[in-house]
Amino acid sequence: YGDASQKIDYVFKVVLIGDSAVGKSQILARFARGEFSLDSKATIGVEFQTRTLMIQHKSVKAQIWDTAGQERYRAVTSAYYRGAVGAMLVYDITKRQSFDHIPRWLEELRGHADKNIVIILIGNKCDLESQRAVPTEDAKEFAQKEGLFFLETSALEATNVETAFTTVLTEIFNIVN
Ligand code: GDP
Ligand code: MG
Repeated sequence: YGDASQKIDYVFKVVLIGDSAVGKSQILARFARGEFSLDSKATIGVEFQTRTLMIQHKSVKAQIWDTAGQERYRAVTSAYYRGAVGAMLVYDITKRQSFDHIPRWLEELRGHADKNIVIILIGNKCDLESQRAVPTEDAKEFAQKEGLFFLETSALEATNVETAFTTVLTEIFNIVN
């Protein structure tokens, strides 16, 4: 997961946002460390993790920021969004409310972040198909209307987590190149 001695061509800051308990911290743990935990503690203190990957023969250090249990409306500060070139807007496919709050998160993101920020909408916990409360089509339609990328993921089963990050990072890479 990245060699500390390697030269870095780019550093891209990406922020994770969305309601509490949708799986943001586990998506990050899966991407940055290849780990998953079923009893993840609520995140304390703003933190980020990094992983360096190659995109078109350049080394890109992804600096992924995770909210620190500040998921209440308007509690995420502007410092969190500052300098972000990508955002992952996460809901839980088994919790309708977490999807209904997405427009609010998007509005907050657009109010704080750079206008060229690359955004992906993520429906997490797709392993829990029998408890699904948000049809894929609804999310796809919303994403299309708002000009967002969209994927359903499972941090638990590692489904599409890698793809979600590479989609965002590659799009950012293409914008700066
Ligand atoms: P956060 O508050 O958005 O950071 O959510 P967490 O990452 O702490 O996850 C909240 C709970 O959902 C934890 O119990 C996780 O183990 C669980 N969880 C996270 N991702 C998944 C997933 O893809 N599938 C399932 N079944 N559970 C998940
Ligand atoms: Mg968390």
